Formats: sequence, C-alpha cells, structure tokens
Amino acid sequence: MNVKALLDRQRTYFRSGATKSVDFRIHQLETLKKVITEHEKDFVEAIYQDFKKPEFETYATELGIIHDEINLMIKNLDKWTQKQSVSGSLVNFPSQNYTVAEPYGTVLIIAPWNYPVQLALLPMVGAIAAGNTVIIKPSELTPNTSEAIAKVLGKWFKEEFVAVVEGGVETNQELLAEEFDYIFFTGSTRVGKIVMEAAAKHLTPVTLELGGKSPCIVDETADLETAAKRIIWGKCINAGQTCVAPDYVLVQEKATAGLLKNLRSAIAEFYGEDPQKSPDLPRIVNDDHFQRLKGYLPEGSIYCGGETDSDDRYISPTILTDIPPKASVMEEEIFGPILPVLTYSEIGEAIDFVNSKPKPLAFYVFTEDEKNESLLLNSCSFGGGSVNDVVAYLGNPDLPFGGVGKSGMGTYHGKASFDTFSHTKSIMKKNLWLDIPFRYAPYDGKLKWIKKILK
Ligand code: NAD
Repeated sequence: MNVKALLDRQRTYFRSGATKSVDFRIHQLETLKKVITEHEKDFVEAIYQDFKKPEFETYATELGIIHDEINLMIKNLDKWTQKQSVSGSLVNFPSQNYTVAEPYGTVLIIAPWNYPVQLALLPMVGAIAAGNTVIIKPSELTPNTSEAIAKVLGKWFKEEFVAVVEGGVETNQELLAEEFDYIFFTGSTRVGKIVMEAAAKHLTPVTLELGGKSPCIVDETADLETAAKRIIWGKCINAGQTCVAPDYVLVQEKATAGLLKNLRSAIAEFYGEDPQKSPDLPRIVNDDHFQRLKGYLPEGSIYCGGETDSDDRYISPTILTDIPPKASVMEEEIFGPILPVLTYSEIGEAIDFVNSKPKPLAFYVFTEDEKNESLLLNSCSFGGGSVNDVVAYLGNPDLPFGGVGKSGMGTYHGKASFDTFSHTKSIMKKNLWLDIPFRYAPYDGKLKWIKKILK
C-alpha cells in the first residue's frame, strides 16, 4: 500500500467538500450500520478465530455499542452541526457571535487488538459524523479481525473516504511519518508516547486512549455478594483483556474474608468448576501475553484458580493474595484474568496506594458509605469510573470516555466523539452601522476609560 498516494487521494477528496454535508454524513453512518448488520457473522467468526471470544460478548461489547453510537450520531447530527450562538461582549458591540464545528480533514485511527472491531469502528463513527476522511490501522495481533475489517470496509466505502491499512509496527511507523490532520490512538502508554512524538513533528492534534492499572476499592460497608459478581464479570469479560477491567482490589481488612469467598463463588457460578470447559471465557491473544501472565502466578498465594494450558492459551480466573508490593503483577498492567487482592485498614492507606501509582484510566468503589464514596472519588485522579459497578459506565455515550496523565488524553463516545473530531471555529460578525472610534489611535485620554471597561 502506497501510504503517501492514499493520503493524497483522501486530502483531495476532503478538499472537494464531499464529506461535509449532513446528508452525506448520515448516509455514510447508515451504510456503516448496514455493514455491521450484514457482516455480523464475519466479525463474530474472525474474533472467535483470534481469541475464542463468545458471540454474546462480541455483540454486547463490540457490535452493539457501535450500533448505539451510530443511532445517537444520526439523531443529533443536525443539531450538532448548526452554528451555536454565544453572547457578544461589550467591547465588540454590536456583533453576532457563534461557533461552528468543522472537520479536521484526514484522520488516522490506530486500534489495539483487545476489542478489535469496536476500537477501530467506534472512533470511525465519530470521525465521519464530524465530516472527516479516515484511515484505520487495525492491530496485527488479531489478524483475522484485521483482515475482516479491511475486506468489509473496502467493499462498502471508497478508499478516498475510508481506507484500512493493515500491518504491524513498520506500517504504523510509515503512517506516522505522514502529516495527518488528527490522530486517534488506542493502545499502550509505551506506544502512546511514540505516537505523540511523531504527531509533534507536524503539530498534529492527538487523542490518546491508553491503559494502566485500574484499582477497585471495596470497603467494610459494601454489599460483598454483588460486589464480587460485578468485579468477576469485569475482570473476566474478554478474559481480562480490557483496558478498564478492575486491575486489582484493595479491600478493607474486615471485609477481606467475605469478599474472597464471594469472588470464588462468582467464578464457579459463571464458569463452572472447570472454566476451561466453559464456552464463555475467551483465550489469551498470543503466546507472549500467555507467558507474561503465567509469570505473575508465582508472585503471590493462589487463593483460587491458577491453572494454565499453553496449547490452548488458557489461564483460569485466578485470585492472588499475599503479594509483595514490588511484585511485577503490581507494577504492570495485568490485562488477563488474574486478580490481586490486597488489604488495607484505614481508607487513607487505600488512597495513598492509588495516588502512589500513575493516574488510572478507571477507578471503582464499592461502598454504601457516602462519606467514603465522596472521599475516594475526590482524593484520587482518574479517567472515569463508577460506584458499586465496574466497566459498564463506558456503555453510556453521555459519559465522555478517556484517561488522564499516563492513562491518556482527550475523550470520546457520543457528543464527546463529535467534538473530538471537530475543530470549534469561533466567528464574530461585526455590524457596520456603528463604528465607535474608541479603539483607534491616538490613545490620548482613553486609558482611564479602557481601565473602567476592562477591570
Ligand atoms: P499497543 O500499544 O501495543 O498497540 C496498539 C497499536 O499500536 C497497534 O495497532 C500496533 O500495531 C501499534 N504499535 C505497536 N508498537 C508500535 C511501535 N513501536 N510504533 C508504532 N506503532 C506501534 O497496544 P495493544 O497491545 O494492542 O493493546 C493493549 C493496550 O491498549 C493496553 O495497555 C490497554 O490498556 C490499552 N487499551 C486502551 C483502551 C482505551 O480505550 N483507553 C482500550 C483498549 C486498550
């Protein structure tokens, strides 16, 4: 694929103005909806080939979310593309003032492997709703899904509008050497830095949706049975290969035994006595990640789970306790079905622990004590999160989704997506019937008046 030539074609197409009308954008969004419906089986099968993700999870966490986002865009696009009036200021009287959302131009979307369809197509929805052209680079670690995305989008969209460039690190480097109008990257903090450095060479704006260790705090007032079910659900969906999965649990010492017992019961309830036989637990994406995860198991005591099968890249849902603070399972993002459970006695200890680490993407609190809830939410900085649940908050498109600090910058989903892929242009239209000469030189005698107006 000649990246330069493709980019030139997209630029020419964008400059023709073809992508800008609301009718065009809605038509393309409807086409994408049709694509996802007609090729649902292709996507389900490709993701299954890549890491045995069950169809329910593929629909609930990938395809269904994209449908929802498209519906929201189509419903609101007319409103969001209108001029938005703002009030005028005294110094500019008389004038009309407004903002208008304009597309950036040609957008590069770089996707990771863990939700390989959702994380490629959800940003695409925002980018085309905002009137841009798009180049998508899916992850090479899920080759079947990457191929399916390229094949399906290639069939339905013109390359000068939406193109898929498949490949690995070298392809990405080739893309990043070019000048895009916007780069939307989802992936690791390590590669996020590489992307930002490349973008800086052209002063290209970026959104970085990165990862990290998302803590989950359970205090002594929490409903332990529900907490355990929701934590295990969030940890085991996609086999823990989820950017907002609860990475580790900090539980108040009085609740520790109860929580552990309930966590074990939840695993057995969801996946049976031998989770390897369950059709509902995906596998680890590749051998490197499998070996990395297996390496964490001896770092603590195995409370339950701990079984592995390298031929099947299977790791059973595992609860680890008694973990030394410097263990790598507490230093690196886990990204697998292994849950370290650590204990605290005072709430301040839990806060200090979270704040001693990079700002997380997500933060979860299980409590029925409003004082603890507000203390925890106000004392820690994080991208987003929830009280008495995990992960599911990102299914609400009215909540902008994104990280802070090392977990990323910028947000998307719903209106936030439209705003992310739009430049807000500010316009003031001045009337001609009045031209107060106050601002013009000579300034003699005017300073005291400007000080009265602007103070
Ligand atoms: P990754 O950073 O390894 O790869 C992401 C993309 O970058 C891929 O398309 C890959 O081809 C490319 N890439 C890899 N190395 C590169 C290099 N040296 N130079 C240029 N490009 C390169 O991430 P991953 O392993 O695919 O995904 C897992 C990570 O993504 C986790 O950290 C996870 O938390 C994060 N993530 C974040 C979100 C979010 O929304 N914040 C969502 C999913 C995953």
